[in-house]
Amino acid sequence: MSSNESAPLTAPDCLFCRIVAGAVPATVVAQSSAAVAFRDIDPQAPLHVLVVPRDHHADVAQLAAADPALLAQVVSLAEQVASDESSGQFRLVFNTGPSAGQSVFHVHAHVLGGVELGRINA
Ligand code: C5P
Repeated sequence: MSSNESAPLTAPDCLFCRIVAGAVPATVVAQSSAAVAFRDIDPQAPLHVLVVPRDHHADVAQLAAADPALLAQVVSLAEQVASDESSGQFRLVFNTGPSAGQSVFHVHAHVLGGVELGRINA
């Protein structure tokens, strides 16, 4: 089922599916028909919001392959949050896989900002 229909794709025991459904509390700051933005419970910057699609996809690579338009809607909501709450400039991080720090396997964009962020020296 696509994100434009009423019931989102969900996965059993997925924490972020439960936040999208309102079954687990979160501080929601913005939402659209396709995605929900809520504050990270352990913020790493003055602006640290997670944007998740309502539909369950495990990571950004799987989302991009399955529904690229939905990925664009996630990025669009991230930009809206950064514009509403900060300068409109932001860092978007998708940890992808356990070795990259992913701990919740429902794709989420970390929207970071509100401070001068240093360059990433990979
Ligand atoms: O990229 P990663 O999967 O590690 O990010 C998960 C994020 O979800 C963490 O930054 C964590 O603080 C956040 N989190 C949250 N609310 C929860 C559980 C986790 O904001 N209830």
